Amino acid sequence: MTKLDQMLDTAASIVILGHVNPDGDCAGSCLAMYRYAKKRREAADVSVRLKNVPEKFSYLDGYDRIQDTVGDEVFDLCICLDCSDRERLGEFEVYLERAGASICVDHHVTNRGYAGENVVVPGASSTAEVLYGQLDKALIDRETAACLYTGIIHDTGVFRYSCTSAKTMEIAGKLMETGIDFTRIIDESFFRKTYLQSQILGRALMECIRFSEGQCIFTVVKSQDMEFYGVGPKDLDGIVDQLRTIDGVECAIFMYEMDTHVYKVSMRSNRVVDVSRIAAYFGGGGHVRAAGCTMSGSIHDVVNNLSGHIEKQLLAGSEND
Ligand code: AMP
Ligand code: MN
Ligand code: MN
Repeated sequence: MTKLDQMLDTAASIVILGHVNPDGDCAGSCLAMYRYAKKRREAADVSVRLKNVPEKFSYLDGYDRIQDTVGDEVFDLCICLDCSDRERLGEFEVYLERAGASICVDHHVTNRGYAGENVVVPGASSTAEVLYGQLDKALIDRETAACLYTGIIHDTGVFRYSCTSAKTMEIAGKLMETGIDFTRIIDESFFRKTYLQSQILGRALMECIRFSEGQCIFTVVKSQDMEFYGVGPKDLDGIVDQLRTIDGVECAIFMYEMDTHVYKVSMRSNRVVDVSRIAAYFGGGGHVRAAGCTMSGSIHDVVNNLSGHIEKQLLAGSEND
């Protein structure tokens, strides 16, 4: 029996948490955990707390049971999923502090193990993949499988990113055997864009700028652009990935203005640059090929600061060739 199952079996009340601005892996893993915990422990009080889960994930079983409020409850067990550090739990961090026991299941290299028990597998494609390994397969039904599959396709860009392994594919195959509607999950939650999302993507691509002999590229969406198109941060998903696939690009930077002179930065790399190191240097985190952080200053300052680190790695990389 896994540590997670042992902890589930001895808790009367359980809270499931993820990271701020939940993505597909976070939402999928949390809802898979929710359904599994309810199935395994019918008598237990199980709760999922997440804020601003995008509506495109409303097909996931349990979506309408997600609560976004913080109260004074104390849970026996707090399960943290896809969250690299405790601050990224946002306002729900208090539940971790109060809980009798806690376990974190994650795949971020920058995770230092902030919970009581930590199951962190940096090489795994997604938290959903790590979580699958912790669950009793007999209790994974079609609904739970759809949640886990969603987590995997979102963090692998539908099996395209280098984090995808043979094991990822095997797990995806097992999940497909439960009868999930995988084409619909992929199209509706990953590829579908609204008209306005497509417009802002086009605008961001039109304005992208290359540097370091075309090996790096960046684009920025200012708050006035977001207001003009009537879009929010979640509508900007996928822009950085479009930049990454441009011919000759090793490292892509996408940033949007969160506040005056405050930018949320997303970085992606293809082969050489370890973007998690750069993000961690600026107080963020993530993975070798996909990481993020928040930075202050003018656009020029932010790009300059990042490019110094990127170029250093590019230079070291070319010396190794
Ligand atoms: P993003 O660029 O926001 O899609 O994030 C890429 C990866 O980096 C994800 O796995 C995030 O969990 C992680 N990440 C993004 N921003 C931060 C941050 N401020 N702190 C820690 N990890 C982050
Ligand atoms: Mn995530
Ligand atoms: Mn993830």
